[in-house]
Amino acid sequence: MEEATPSEVRERLTLIADLSRELEVSVYLVGGAVRDLLLTGELRDLDLVVEGSGADFAHALGERLDAPVRTHPQFLTAEVEDPLGLHIDIASSRAESYPEPAVLPVVREGSLEEDLDRRDFTVNTLTVRLGPDAGLELIDSRGGVQDLEDSLLRILHSRSFVDDPTRAFRAVRLETRLGLRLEPESKRLLNQAVEKQIVDRLSPARLRQEVVYLFGELENLEASLRRMDELGLLRTLHPRLSFDERDAERLTRVTDQIVRLHDKGIELPALEFWRLALMSLAWRLEPAVREELVDRLGLVGADRELLLGFRQRLEAAASDLDGSRVQPHLAARSLARLQAEEQVLLSALGDDEVKAWVERWLEELRHIELTISGQDLLARGASPGPAIGAVLTATLEARLDGLIGADEELDHAAELLEKGHQK
Ligand code: ATP
Repeated sequence: MEEATPSEVRERLTLIADLSRELEVSVYLVGGAVRDLLLTGELRDLDLVVEGSGADFAHALGERLDAPVRTHPQFLTAEVEDPLGLHIDIASSRAESYPEPAVLPVVREGSLEEDLDRRDFTVNTLTVRLGPDAGLELIDSRGGVQDLEDSLLRILHSRSFVDDPTRAFRAVRLETRLGLRLEPESKRLLNQAVEKQIVDRLSPARLRQEVVYLFGELENLEASLRRMDELGLLRTLHPRLSFDERDAERLTRVTDQIVRLHDKGIELPALEFWRLALMSLAWRLEPAVREELVDRLGLVGADRELLLGFRQRLEAAASDLDGSRVQPHLAARSLARLQAEEQVLLSALGDDEVKAWVERWLEELRHIELTISGQDLLARGASPGPAIGAVLTATLEARLDGLIGADEELDHAAELLEKGHQK
């Protein structure tokens, strides 16, 4: 979807303000949205807080915009899918209490002030009142503007990291993405939460979520990993995890390679940066340690399989691609077994020959598909049976090796069948 233009965003804010007047309900733009607006002058998402029922307001807005609405009553939140492509999150103002450190809070409806109290950093408490009163008003009750000017991340109270240690990871993310720095007392409290092993109490699922967010921001990743190491946060993922110059060099090769592939116009298969980054970081861990890391993050299914087996698979592929006797169909056979992230990692870390093969695979070979199917061979009088599959595979390999063109597939396959091709 196209991005909304600044004037469209302004129009939308006006409509929201008008609606808040009609419904006589207080509506605020809050958090990261205001922070980023002040930092960059741009609004990407609209995070709204309604004093009253956020769901009712979301439905009214959805009706006005003829847009779908999703509500999450257990969290007192809703989303409106704006046709302009804006992401509109609407929450009822909430108060939170933490039954114990590092577990999810209990949430109830509360005032705007209570909603701001539960937030992580002063720069994320900045609020603009959109309505019902006319005119926009910036609400800065916790010194967020000053901290933003001083590029500081400051928590709101001394128990903040104890209540919710995910804030330690959020701190790193905001520091590196926005060029902010933890204010000294906040940093001391973060260090204390790490030392007292409060961060270790996070569930695997919550820790994984933070890793997915942090490692997904590839442009800032090296700075984030250095900072995580410095703050002791990498060790909370696994005591053996650290980030040294070799890790930095490996990561640079990976990120440079992504840029290089992009610059060459090579379209990458769908991949998730956090998986690539985690593999790069886990590169030199022994298998048993890697398994403990995977357990700590609660990785399951394909993620788990990827992290546990990638080193072996990459070694096997690198050896397949080594030497002068490699033909395109052999390279394709080997590389098709790898997941997208493994292909990129191999192209980043392999020697020149391996790199060239992976690039050729990504650019050209993986797009080559047969234009014929078994049906075409049956229509030509072939009898059903396993030979058909084998002949189709051999025909695709001939295409990959450039021995035949797409228009020669059927003749080639029929000829192989006649010769009694067996594989
Ligand atoms: P991003 O640009 O990554 O979306 P954001 O600051 O908008 O950054 P969100 O995760 O969308 O972050 O959260 C929206 C707002 O909710 C934040 O600005 C912050 O005020 C609050 N928030 C999010 N997570 C926490 C948390 N763990 N503790 C306290 N407040 C939080």
